[in-house]
Amino acid sequence: MSVLQLFSPFAGRALPLTASPDPVFAGGLIGDGLAIDPEVGELRAPCAGIVASLQASGHALTIRSDTGAEILLHIGVDTVNLGGAGFTPLVREGQHVATGERLIDFDLAAMRPKVASMVSMMVVANGEAFGVASVVTDRPVGFGDPIMTVAAVGDTVGTSANSSEAAEFSLPLKIAHGLHARPAAQFANAAKAHAGAVHVTANGKTANGKSVVALMGIGTRFGDILNVRVEGPGADATVDTLLDLVLSGLGDPIADGPAPEADVAALAARTSGDAPVKPFRPGTAVAVRGRSAVAGLAAGRIVRRYHDARNLPRDGTGISIERDRLAAARARVLTRLSEETEGPRAAVAAAHREIVDDPALVEAAEADIAAGRSAEWAWNAACLAQADMLAGLADARMAERAADMRDVAGQVVAALAGRDAVSGLADLPAGSLVLSDEILPSETTGLTPGHIGAILMRDGGPTSHAAIIAAGLGIPTIVALGPEADRIPDGAEVIVDAGLGTVTVYPTEAELAAARSRIAGDAGRKASQRANAQAECRLADGTRVEVFANLGRVGEGALAVAEGAEGCGLLRSEFLFLDRTSAPSEDEQLAQYQAIADELGGRPLIIRTLDVGGDKPLSYLPLPKEENPFLGLRGIRVGLIRPELLRTQLRAILRVKPYGVARIMVPMVASVTEMITVRTMVEEERLRLGRVEPIQLGAMIEIPAAAVAARQLAEVCDFFSIGTNDLTQYALAMDRGNPAVAAGVDALHPGVLGLIRLACEGAGAHGRVVAVCGGAASDPSAAPILVGLGVRELSAAPAAIPEIKAALAAFTVNQCQALAERAVQAQGAEEVRALTGASA
Ligand code: PEP
Ligand code: MG
Repeated sequence: MSVLQLFSPFAGRALPLTASPDPVFAGGLIGDGLAIDPEVGELRAPCAGIVASLQASGHALTIRSDTGAEILLHIGVDTVNLGGAGFTPLVREGQHVATGERLIDFDLAAMRPKVASMVSMMVVANGEAFGVASVVTDRPVGFGDPIMTVAAVGDTVGTSANSSEAAEFSLPLKIAHGLHARPAAQFANAAKAHAGAVHVTANGKTANGKSVVALMGIGTRFGDILNVRVEGPGADATVDTLLDLVLSGLGDPIADGPAPEADVAALAARTSGDAPVKPFRPGTAVAVRGRSAVAGLAAGRIVRRYHDARNLPRDGTGISIERDRLAAARARVLTRLSEETEGPRAAVAAAHREIVDDPALVEAAEADIAAGRSAEWAWNAACLAQADMLAGLADARMAERAADMRDVAGQVVAALAGRDAVSGLADLPAGSLVLSDEILPSETTGLTPGHIGAILMRDGGPTSHAAIIAAGLGIPTIVALGPEADRIPDGAEVIVDAGLGTVTVYPTEAELAAARSRIAGDAGRKASQRANAQAECRLADGTRVEVFANLGRVGEGALAVAEGAEGCGLLRSEFLFLDRTSAPSEDEQLAQYQAIADELGGRPLIIRTLDVGGDKPLSYLPLPKEENPFLGLRGIRVGLIRPELLRTQLRAILRVKPYGVARIMVPMVASVTEMITVRTMVEEERLRLGRVEPIQLGAMIEIPAAAVAARQLAEVCDFFSIGTNDLTQYALAMDRGNPAVAAGVDALHPGVLGLIRLACEGAGAHGRVVAVCGGAASDPSAAPILVGLGVRELSAAPAAIPEIKAALAAFTVNQCQALAERAVQAQGAEEVRALTGASA
């Protein structure tokens, strides 16, 4: 038996371990050893070895001796709560240290009044392999005095039992300080009762769940995803015990956020503060439902990317130094963002530049710096305060801008650390099915179509920047999965049907096989649809139907053309302005519109005038708060009470070259008078600009009254475009953003189809074309019905275009009309979908 001599790591008084004020140490739960009441604020190495773990807060470390004994040195009781204040580690994890080498300096005098006790402990953490042979207690000791001997007794842990039985769980850790000594000991003790192996994985590191040291060595923090795998007979029962222990906090209180004492400024999108949730377990298939953002199928394993809380230094090193650091980091981010001039990221980068340069944010951050804070801390706090404000707004789209604020917070903090960006989805393995609380736009940098299998977000909305970018790349995306998303373990096998908005967790083998063959079939079908998508869209009998794309950003036009878009049927111009703090000038608007027109290469570009107001406030456009914002100042009503804004936009659209490409579309039109007023403005501005060529002016049909009175309206319009999203919510009196009624909000409701038919009849009386640019235009099963009702242009999400073209090619106009007739007569949307063979 080999014996290891340990020398006193502290100068003070040696005590029996039972004298430790911490009952977990005193009870020997962490291991056998002794306590020492230190008189000097220094911890030195009791033996030579490797620093196996060093707690982030600097209050404890473990040395693995050359013989393999793991010696845990813990300074004081509950000192983890000091969050590192007063501790100065002098060594790093993995470093080899000599006996007597100084390991940690600590400010004994400053700490004493703040904690329960400064009595410190030295214990053998791998007690199953090493035991205490002798120990000296109840006397003063100096550094280097021989104090304890440890003897090897064999290695018995971590061996996998000869059984194929295994069980596991994953969940976000809700312990404020992560697995520090006490919770790690509780866990390891429970794990030791199991005969087989227990593996704990977090942050990409796997540890023997029976070893306190190994568990501490993972360095877990609040919010980290902990995966526990148990092998051998009784694995299920052990998993249940361990799960209950972890959910109960392992002796520490369950926290609803990272430890405040540690000055943790939660960065960017933080992990949920909800009560702990039980993760789904293999063996039973479960379906989690969210909102479809981009349709598509995928199967594979979950890669969780919840955003960790991070430690940021709170105190600065001097006001002028921190101010200069912040300025330099902002400049670095601005330079990088201005290099992004192409593709869908360009517009997001432009919006982020605005935020980085926002004077109110800079002012708030500088005020904190002046109060002694670090640049990281100050900038992060300023951004998160703004993000929280935005997230609290009633309008979903504005709330989604909160993600941009968090994103920019992370970018500048990364720059302060000398890095260019937070690591992105492009760095993940190909085919990953990414599950996140919310994907931030900057994480999509460099992402190429097909790299990521699917994006699943617990939060977020279908109009968030990330969802728009995902749509541009054709990545199946589900948003708003809600708290159930937290129960989906990292690595869990799932089937994603983003069209239906469902994630099937732990599907059966049969379900998986069926999904894989659907995916293969889908991929083949999509490839051939895409190969044919450049041809103009015609029905089987040659009837022409134009298929356009909905766009919201510079860069998307080129992608849409590649998908077969024959033009843009809806440019949501408010997407270009939402992140602004001041109204864009005519020239700025022209530059954006012209860039998109150029991408479309002469194809039509229908620009919708600003569709904001009421529930969609713009920071530079203060409007009164309303009781029923959806029924208040929205769409063109805002343009009519702020004509200077509308006229600026009209002039910018009128200047897009070549003339004839750009057309003007007016949102939320309720009356003929509104269209006449806009027409008058358009004509006045056209003459003022000296433009001779006319410009087409159309109305969106989104209000039921406009559909019913379409004949009169068509007289003063060049075209109609039906916004089925709003038309459906107003016709059915169901808020399109309210999850409680989401199941009923279906544009294929016969009542909505009847309104579309009325709009087509009214337009037809004056020879006007009717388009659909709402969500129904991206639904292949709705396409033939819409055409049968008289629609001749569909404006869809770019990725949906090849499928829409292919779907229409299978019908003649007579078949479409017959289908539409039956649909209008149907009892409900479900019956209509049954007619088309599609599910909702
Ligand atoms: C609609 O309402 O269908 C539409 C296209 O407009 P938005 O979704 O932008 O309100
Ligand atoms: Mg609308």
